[in-house]
Order: sequence, then C-alpha cells, then structure tokens
Amino acid sequence: MGCNSSTLAKIHNVEELILETGFSSSHVCHLYSRFHSLDKDDKGLLSRADFQTISELAVNPLGDRIINAFFPDGMDLIDFNSFVRTLACFRPVEESQKKELNSPEPINSRTNKLMFAFQLYDQDKDGKISNYELLQILRMMVGVQVTEEQLENITDRTIQEADLDGDNAISFEEFKKSLEKMDVEHLLSIRFI
Ligand code: CA
Ligand code: CA
Repeated sequence: MGCNSSTLAKIHNVEELILETGFSSSHVCHLYSRFHSLDKDDKGLLSRADFQTISELAVNPLGDRIINAFFPDGMDLIDFNSFVRTLACFRPVEESQKKELNSPEPINSRTNKLMFAFQLYDQDKDGKISNYELLQILRMMVGVQVTEEQLENITDRTIQEADLDGDNAISFEEFKKSLEKMDVEHLLSIRFI
C-alpha cells in the first residue's frame, strides 16, 4: 500500500494523532498498513489473537503481558488510534526532545517508558510490585537451570535493594530510582514493524 494523503484521510483525527505521538505522517501511514495486515477480518479493530501472529511477541516470554498492555480496562478490541498511541511509548527519545525541559511530557518520555515496563510487572494494578509478582516475571524470563530456591533469593534481594520505605514491595518511584542509570531504550526494544 502506498503512503499518500488518501491513506491519511482514512484515519480518524490524524492531525491530533501525529501531534500527540510524535510519529511522522509517513510513519503513521506505515503503521496503518501494518495494522491492516494484522486485522484479518478487516473490521478496523485488532484482537489479542491478531497480536499473537507477531512472531517477535510470540517468542517473547512477556509477550502476553505486552499484548495486554495494548488493551486498557479489559477491552477485547482496539482501534488504529489506540494502537498507535501505545506504540508511541516505544518510540526512541530524540536528541532535540531531551533539551526541551519545559515542554509537556511527551508520550515516549523516559517516565512513560518506565511506566509501561512497570505495568508489565504490576499485574494486580495496586501500584506496587510485590515479591510474588517479581518472582512470576523472573520465572518466565530465566531458563530451567535456575532452581526455585535461587529464584526466590534473587527476588528477595532485588526487592530489598529497591525497597526504600520498607513495605517489602516496589512502588513506581522506587522502580524508577533503581533503574536511574539504566538505558531504558533497551528495556523496550521490541520491534513491531
Ligand atoms: Ca502489584
Ligand atoms: Ca517499597
């Protein structure tokens, strides 16, 4: 599908979408054709099953959780604009953007990227990563060569190191602080296109 103004004209509130997400119009066009290649029944909406056909998500241990992050509030289908807004979180931060300190928080800011990652851990959405939630994630991500006891030790140690207020859980502020020196661009380096 060629990228032209007739493609853009099909997209609801396209000007706002470009402004809000920081994607260029040609990038939005590209995403539009990607969206439609995933949208098998061509109703303009994607389901979880449509996402599961993305091979990189299918092999990612956190694939299901990442897919869930596209579906807010228990929704089962999302439209194109919602798809693009979530994807914008993954857009790398540009040099020019880093200097504009007084501008409003862009959708792909470091804080929003960290928030996206935090939500992958915080499954019961109480705003904290509990010992159990961290253990679950680690279990998914490490291979079989690690014993359950070792995993529990790693979990306990990670919580202890990040937990500043002593409630034995990691709040978003604590999560942010413990990842202060980490390059979050690598944290969310999943390619959808
Ligand atoms: Ca939680
Ligand atoms: Ca805490």
